[in-house]
Amino acid sequence: MGTKVRVIVYASSTEQAERGRRAAFAVMKDVDDRMSDYKSDSELSRLSRSAGQGPQRVSPELFDVLQASQRTSELSGGAFDITAGPLVRLWRRSRKEGKLPSPEEIAAAKMLVDYRRLVLNTHERTAELKTEGMLLDVGGIAKGYACDRGLEALRTCGITRALVDTGGGMALGDPPPDKPGWRIGMLGDSSRILVLSNCGVSTSGDVEQFVEIDGKRYSHIIDPVTGLGLTNRAMATVIAPDGLTSDALDTPICIMGAERGLKMASSQNGVEAWTQWVEGGRRKHVETPGFDRYAVPAED
Ligand code: ADP
Ligand code: MG
Repeated sequence: MGTKVRVIVYASSTEQAERGRRAAFAVMKDVDDRMSDYKSDSELSRLSRSAGQGPQRVSPELFDVLQASQRTSELSGGAFDITAGPLVRLWRRSRKEGKLPSPEEIAAAKMLVDYRRLVLNTHERTAELKTEGMLLDVGGIAKGYACDRGLEALRTCGITRALVDTGGGMALGDPPPDKPGWRIGMLGDSSRILVLSNCGVSTSGDVEQFVEIDGKRYSHIIDPVTGLGLTNRAMATVIAPDGLTSDALDTPICIMGAERGLKMASSQNGVEAWTQWVEGGRRKHVETPGFDRYAVPAED
């Protein structure tokens, strides 16, 4: 999925740490093999290629991610949409060429984006993309899922004090010995440090991935309504019970904006969120009422 993975563990021996490392990386590699859209033989790519050809049986792992994606789409009123593949593809080309797609290209891609045309059947464990040319992109959610699976693999090796990090998204187990939690810095707010354990935390935004065209900065987060990357420099950090949930929610909060986005976050159990954006040349930020409970001043 085009990212570096870092695992930190406290183990009782070097052997146990090594066993945990191997187990965690193996399971995360498996997620990458299944869900990377860069790999043409991944399960995800094969499912995309079968668009328009009826229901396809999928692995429990992929089904879990598809199902969580659909829930997030419904929750966010379609702001989050893993069928955004055709638009993501245009964005990647824009980034390479430094040029926006034409309105016709955007309109054609948008015709293929609609999460309601990804039909899941829990009983048969099948997924069907209704229209030929539809393309899945789990880039907004699969890293969080991979973190959860990595953490789970460490647990089966008896390691509970662990952190699994895929760049923007993390899953955290028990805290380091004699510590109240893992200290996680916040991109976009250097005044505070989050102190967290047994949860997921993830940040999304245009900090690392963006394209500048004609003096305008476009994020890699795409608003399915306009078909273009966001231009308001939105970022969001989400704390949730697991990595899948935090990664799923950070992307739509950026798209929906502070008011609707944080309302959505607050409606979910155990979820807190912070978001920042630029409006009229000024940086603004808001957070859910419970967010600061997890923070300490940076100098502490
Ligand atoms: P990252 O850690 O890469 O910043 P994010 O959680 O911010 O991950 O997700 C960004 C990725 O999500 C994009 O690179 C793209 O693959 C995908 N994406 C972009 N727009 C949407 C959208 N509206 N709905 C779902 N996924 C999206
Ligand atoms: Mg995300």
